[in-house]
Amino acid sequence: MSDYSEEQEAIRRVVREFARKEVAPGAADRDASSRFDYSLYRRLGELGVPGLMFPEALGGGGADLLTFCLAVEEVARVDLSLSWTAAVAPVGAQQIAIMATPEQKQMWLDEWVKPVIRGEATTAAAITEPDAGSDTAGIQTRAVLDGDEWVINGSKAFITNAGLDNNLYATVLCLTDPEARRFDTIIVPKGAPGYRIMPAYRKMGLRSSDTRELAFDDCRVPAINRIGSPGGGRGRTVRGFFAARITLASTALGLAEQCLEIASAYAQERHAFRRPIAGFQYVQGMLVEMALNVELSRLIRDKAARLFDQGLPHGKEAAMAKWFCCESAKQAADYAVQVFGGMGFMDECPASRYYRDIRAATIADGTTQIQKHVIAREMGLLG
Ligand SMILES: Cc1cc2nc3c(=O)[nH]c(=O)nc-3n(C[C@H](O)[C@H](O)[C@H](O)COP(=O)(O)OP(=O)(O)OC[C@H]3O[C@@H](n4cnc5c(N)ncnc54)[C@H](O)[C@@H]3O)c2cc1C
Repeated sequence: MSDYSEEQEAIRRVVREFARKEVAPGAADRDASSRFDYSLYRRLGELGVPGLMFPEALGGGGADLLTFCLAVEEVARVDLSLSWTAAVAPVGAQQIAIMATPEQKQMWLDEWVKPVIRGEATTAAAITEPDAGSDTAGIQTRAVLDGDEWVINGSKAFITNAGLDNNLYATVLCLTDPEARRFDTIIVPKGAPGYRIMPAYRKMGLRSSDTRELAFDDCRVPAINRIGSPGGGRGRTVRGFFAARITLASTALGLAEQCLEIASAYAQERHAFRRPIAGFQYVQGMLVEMALNVELSRLIRDKAARLFDQGLPHGKEAAMAKWFCCESAKQAADYAVQVFGGMGFMDECPASRYYRDIRAATIADGTTQIQKHVIAREMGLLG
């Protein structure tokens, strides 16, 4: 029996049907050609997925984080690339909706927030740099106020969505006070002078999701483009990671569920030694371990999302969900390949794409090692 609300179950059903009928059929081709399908993303927008967590007054769904997690989980069952795009796409617009001043909202809601809610546009969150990933305090991209403009110099690495045609802007974490090591989040719109979006990386997986390096060479944007209270950018970014980690954990859970489903079905139809391979205990061992981890992943993901939705402390649970869901999904994809045998290694077998795609999940949005560090800190073990 489900302990999700009727509304959550309804959204889950709609997105699952959309994922199976419209997303799954082209997923392998999009992966092979590293192609992002804009019309498919628009369809996701029509279903209300990117706007789920925005206020209804802005045209959003007024839903909670858990509902959004259920939606991206369903997409991830068939296409992790699309689910990552969808998970990241609203982040910049959410920052505006939550933190912008009334003056900024007046300027930006119609142009920079509502198209994102409708799924017509995407945003990017640019934090990682070539020399600073886990260690966000080491970020060097520098923003200096010059009259009524910020002048930004530096670069960002591995940024999702910034190179998409429908990307409006990146929210860029910049060092604004080197002595006090204070940071600010500054909105850099596509086309700003000095803002260069580099060619897409060639990646092991997630090939139909856009990932780029960004360069800022005396990039100029209006002074008003700083969002949130001055100097508080890094603290807010670190807190923002918590929700992002729960969302990313949900995409991993979706992929793990699908690995379990396809591997179980295959194990029952594939015969060796005159019986289904599902009858062999070593094969059962992989399948039951996957099943247990899917159950446990759902429990910790739901707990973390519900704590977030209730406004309760959730940093430890978010880190646990990110760690456990992503590591166990990585193992589920590995087991799925193993259950499929030689076919599992072939591009035509979905398990091989899942295996490549999920590899990024234990790295992005805080590595597994960083999640363990966060949990140790939350447990008061760091002294
Ligand atoms: C597909 C993909 C999409 C991404 N999208 C975005 C995005 O949209 N925006 C963005 O800003 N970034 C994005 N990233 C970047 C991602 O968040 C970073 O790669 C990640 O935070 C790790 O940073 P790093 O690569 O610099 O590794 P490093 O920080 O250099 O870490 C290297 C290794 O050292 C370990 N390590 C580091 N510090 C510690 C420690 N204190 N204790 C124990 N071990 C440690 C790490 O766990 C890791 O194993 C993306 C990455 C990928 C792969």
